[in-house]
Amino acid sequence: MSHSLSQFSSENDFITRHIGPTAEQTQTMLSKLGVQSVEELIGQTVPAAIQRGPMPLPGAVTEQQALAELKAIASKNKIARSFIGMGYHDTFTPGVIQRNVLENPGWYTAYTPYQPEIAQGRLEALLNFQQMVIDLTGMDLANASLLDEATAAAEAMAMCKRLVRKNRSNVFLVDENCHPQTIAVLQTRARPMDLEIQVGNVAELIDTAECFGVLVQYPGSNGDVTDLRQLCATASSRDIMSVVATDLLSLLLLTPPGEQGADIVVGCAQRFGVPMGFGGPHAAFFATRDKYKRSVPGRIIGVSVDARGNPALRMAMQTREQHIRREKATSNICTSQALLAIMAVFYAIYHGPKGLKKIASRTNRLAGILVAGLQQLGYQTNSAFFDTVTVATGDKTAAIFKAAQSQLLNLRNNGQSLGISLDETTSAADIEALWAVFAEGQTLPSITEIDAKLGDYPGIPAELQRQSEYLDHPVFNQYHSETEMLRYMHRLERKDIALNHSMIALGSCTMKLNATSEMVPVTWPEFGRIHPFAPREQIQGYLQLVDELEQQLVGCTGYDKFSMQPNAGSQGEYAGLLAIKRYHESRGDTQRDICLIPSSAHGTNPASAAMAGMRVVIVGCDEKGNVDIEDLRAKAQQHSEEVAALMVTYPSTHGVFEEGIREICDITHQFGGQVYIDGANMNALVGLAAPGEFGADVSHLNLHKTFCIPHGGGGPGMGPIGVKAHLAPFLPSHPVLPVEGLSADNDTVSAATYGSASILPISWMYIRMMGAEGLKQATSMAIVNANYVAKRLSDSYPVLYTGRNNRVAHECIIDLRPLKEASGISEEDIAKRLMDYGFHAPTMSFPVPGTLMIEPTESESLLELDRFCDAMISIRAEIAKVEAGQLPLDNNPLVNAPHTQRDIADANWERAYSKQEAAFPAAELFGSKCWPAVNRIDNVYGDRNLICSCPPISAYQ
Ligand SMILES: *Cc1c(COP(=O)(O)O)cnc(C)c1O
Repeated sequence: MSHSLSQFSSENDFITRHIGPTAEQTQTMLSKLGVQSVEELIGQTVPAAIQRGPMPLPGAVTEQQALAELKAIASKNKIARSFIGMGYHDTFTPGVIQRNVLENPGWYTAYTPYQPEIAQGRLEALLNFQQMVIDLTGMDLANASLLDEATAAAEAMAMCKRLVRKNRSNVFLVDENCHPQTIAVLQTRARPMDLEIQVGNVAELIDTAECFGVLVQYPGSNGDVTDLRQLCATASSRDIMSVVATDLLSLLLLTPPGEQGADIVVGCAQRFGVPMGFGGPHAAFFATRDKYKRSVPGRIIGVSVDARGNPALRMAMQTREQHIRREKATSNICTSQALLAIMAVFYAIYHGPKGLKKIASRTNRLAGILVAGLQQLGYQTNSAFFDTVTVATGDKTAAIFKAAQSQLLNLRNNGQSLGISLDETTSAADIEALWAVFAEGQTLPSITEIDAKLGDYPGIPAELQRQSEYLDHPVFNQYHSETEMLRYMHRLERKDIALNHSMIALGSCTMKLNATSEMVPVTWPEFGRIHPFAPREQIQGYLQLVDELEQQLVGCTGYDKFSMQPNAGSQGEYAGLLAIKRYHESRGDTQRDICLIPSSAHGTNPASAAMAGMRVVIVGCDEKGNVDIEDLRAKAQQHSEEVAALMVTYPSTHGVFEEGIREICDITHQFGGQVYIDGANMNALVGLAAPGEFGADVSHLNLHKTFCIPHGGGGPGMGPIGVKAHLAPFLPSHPVLPVEGLSADNDTVSAATYGSASILPISWMYIRMMGAEGLKQATSMAIVNANYVAKRLSDSYPVLYTGRNNRVAHECIIDLRPLKEASGISEEDIAKRLMDYGFHAPTMSFPVPGTLMIEPTESESLLELDRFCDAMISIRAEIAKVEAGQLPLDNNPLVNAPHTQRDIADANWERAYSKQEAAFPAAELFGSKCWPAVNRIDNVYGDRNLICSCPPISAYQ
């Protein structure tokens, strides 16, 4: 037989890399399931009524070809010197952090640290982040990152409203010198909460204004540095909360807001080593006073103790999250920006307090030199500044702006003035280049001459020069050589289970492969070094990327239009519900404000509805976990004049394809509501069924689930929304860079027009390399894998819900309540015991208490699925011994799990089982075990004794 070139074609190679099981393994699984083919299983699983034809997407290409295509797109972005500021600054990402964190799956593939015993590494990093923010802002307490500065300000506004009980005003007063995107996000958030944003000069208005809170920017958006003390004192005396948005680098030199009386301090840690990336992802921060600690939005890392009494870290007060408070939640943060918070604090650790101060001082000095030179050239600027100045340019503004832009020097154009913001990448040559565009032929000033005459800390008024110390904790003072830094980061990484160690079958979270080729473009400078408000002609690559990804997602979902602005699923829900609300309003249906939500919904759903100003009406589920269609009809009818939307997850959060989904959509429409399908479970649909075709009006997609953006240990993520055409006019836009075709006055839900734009290449690469056929195969194999796991475990653990033919969708819930009843062993014991076997537990007690929800994804091979199932079955046998009385209930490998090196080294081993059973329950663990760093952590202790800053090093010894 002769060869021909086509036999060796490799277009489909990536598909087989992405999908875990080989053809042979698939056959093995299919026979276990009693079917002949994948198609047969899909036919038994996915309702015929919703199955779609082929997706309108091109075929797969190789990794190399996709990278080449994307490189061509990226090259259409023009890297300029950015002096725009407005909350985004160029920065040097230290190589040791870029390669070993941002480009390292040990960090970027981890999940949110819900299982703290195998997440001590990133928990420590995040605790360091909190300490850094506390020190620099001068506050008592900080959380571990929010989505961006603008939404952090919105969270602050909501918290003020909650806390200022005596104050009856609904007005939040915002200083006119705040970043415009922050003001826009506040306006969007305020409206459904019946709050009013007043923009003005806060320093002048504070004596008389009726308001519950104020926001000022420090330094101001135009660069001004003004004293906050009087303002904060007056606010406090009038029962008004004061919020300060600030810049971390400036706080190395400026008196921090905490020392001036601020109640809440927010901002963004981007310029600590995280590329601008056309707007994100970056970590925002949120700091406040100790007395408000129980009201802080987002996640707080706290110190607790483990079963041996040693200090151990965990997320504090997890029970406050939207899962418990649901429609009463006033904040809705799941995915935030953990990876970027970790990068930012590593930057601070690497440079240390002295190094950071040097960076800040140099940047400030260059600004001082710039200003002195501009004065020589006859220009006026603000006199108090840190690194940003606004130059009065009057009628010459447009000409100078253009001249600068033609040399790829990006300035901020205010119409009659130009803003210039410097950063750690600014060079002396940059200053001269800037002078040259302002000089109009005059002789340029001399940097050396100005430098020789300039005083210390130019532009910073004496009373605002920082006197207090910061970052004196040892962690910020011992890792300044690259070797030490590398080892510190690696030491933390080794404590955590991420996808580079074993499968993480977290139901609803879709922990699938984040392929290297998908990740590579993220650190290309053509994507990293682009300011979100750069002129359109410099961002053509990004605009094309957004456009093409939109078309890809349209192909996957059957929607007509997408918005890339929401930067997490929760934000997508919010943006989608706002679009629905605006749509109803545009038709005069202003009274439509009820959101029907099934009882099984994810907590973000009711929380989003509440934040969008909707009233939540719960729809029941039947005993099989399906939406109770008669209850839905009754409630929709009862509220037929007020129904705004139905929010439903499909396949359901119970892991089944409900047969009635079309009817569910029809009923909602019949009574005037819009259908919101939560797209978190899209990994069970792509290529098989399209929500835009079976009746939904809007969905968010978690690109960090279905479309391969890694979870980053708790973020970043992207939650773009797809809509049918009638909702498209109501998608979010932006005051600075409006979305093409939409008004700048539309709602704004993120600080940047396209959210965390620099991770969009990941999803683009995935879809391009898989093609229509590969994506469909991936979905099908996700369903095969889930059904295989359900089948293998079914003799040991009952599967709670199944659909037609006893099949599950892409995940399954196993019910541990009967076992607990019989043996006293809880779902938590099983979750912790899995760590001893080298696994991260599946999703625990969601959506049903006392259960585990397992989602294996298509990326896990049969070998790994079997390893996991073997562990679960072996654990079942251990439980049987407890049930049979062979092991005491208070001394067995389950209740004592996880086991640590301290246990094994303990001379007083008084356990009813061997050390080998404890730590090496499966033979393959020898030699490659990931040891839980601490024993089981006491959750209650941690919440009662809330400590959210770094304990002294002595506490660890
Ligand atoms: C993950 C998830 C969300 C929230 O997404 P985030 O990006 O974490 O905000 C919402 N609904 C469901 C069903 C989910 O699984």
